[in-house]
Amino acid sequence: MVSPLVVVFVSFGQFQQGRAAVQRVDELAGIPQEDSGAAQGAGAAPGPEHDVAIRFRDVYFSYDGAHSPPVLSAVSFAVPARGLTAIVGPSGAGKSTVFHLVEGFYQPTRGHIQLGGQDLEALTLDTLRAHIGYVQQDITTMRGTIRENLVYARPEADGRQIEEALRMAQLREVVAKLPEGVDTRVGEMGAGLSGGERQRLSIARALLQRPSVLLLDEATSQLDAKSESALRRVLHDLARECAIVAIAHRLSTVVDADQIIVLSHGRVQATGTHHELLGSDTLYRELAGTQFGGHPNR
Ligand code: ATP
Repeated sequence: MVSPLVVVFVSFGQFQQGRAAVQRVDELAGIPQEDSGAAQGAGAAPGPEHDVAIRFRDVYFSYDGAHSPPVLSAVSFAVPARGLTAIVGPSGAGKSTVFHLVEGFYQPTRGHIQLGGQDLEALTLDTLRAHIGYVQQDITTMRGTIRENLVYARPEADGRQIEEALRMAQLREVVAKLPEGVDTRVGEMGAGLSGGERQRLSIARALLQRPSVLLLDEATSQLDAKSESALRRVLHDLARECAIVAIAHRLSTVVDADQIIVLSHGRVQATGTHHELLGSDTLYRELAGTQFGGHPNR
């Protein structure tokens, strides 16, 4: 399945784009607001509910129904409507599963998930797809031209917007060197593009759309240092206008994150910023020293 993605054009006029993003968050949050009194559970961010993009409230989940041990247990957290939230944890901790639930691929066995204050189960898949962008590590389906892949979920995008998305995703030079530029065909599964290029194409597609929430499954080593630092700046700007949730494998992402959620064995073990967690959480310190490149004290 090609993941539908949505985002905000930072460089097409910060003010207007900011307003558009706020409107989209309001679109999600505005309609029937439920009582937020019970919403301040463990891990919940303070503030009115319309400032929260995603809320997990005591979520349990098992892929095989309620009979097998849960993959997620009693998971509660809140993702603010703007800013960067990183999810970290050892392999198998349940990070991708959190994304699968937000995307509506599966429903919790127990507990509730809300998007903009509304129960996920009350939203249609089309509504979810319109508000949630998803950049996966591995792009499973991709064929047709680069342009077709880019405009998948925003067919009205014009040439200038496509160029801008490619530039922001650090792909413009790569595409310019292809025989037919943006009209070059890519093979099944993105054949002809490197892993890093496929991921950047996926990010460019996200940039063409305008999500309230961007889910980013960060690749471990697909980007070179220059592209990584440029993309980091793009995400930093985007995070002013929408919620970015990244399954983080890079030190730069966790250092930049406004909030980090540490998952372990399907439970939220801790939340905080990089520096808070370095001081308070042994597992995080270990992850920082191994997964994130060995400079945990930066
Ligand atoms: P990684 O960092 O290795 O990607 P993760 O933290 O994202 O791991 P998940 O992919 O969410 O972890 O997996 C959590 C648990 O759920 C693992 O034990 C995994 O084997 C199991 N799991 C994941 N997907 C499925 C599935 N489709 N059916 C059954 N079990 C699954």
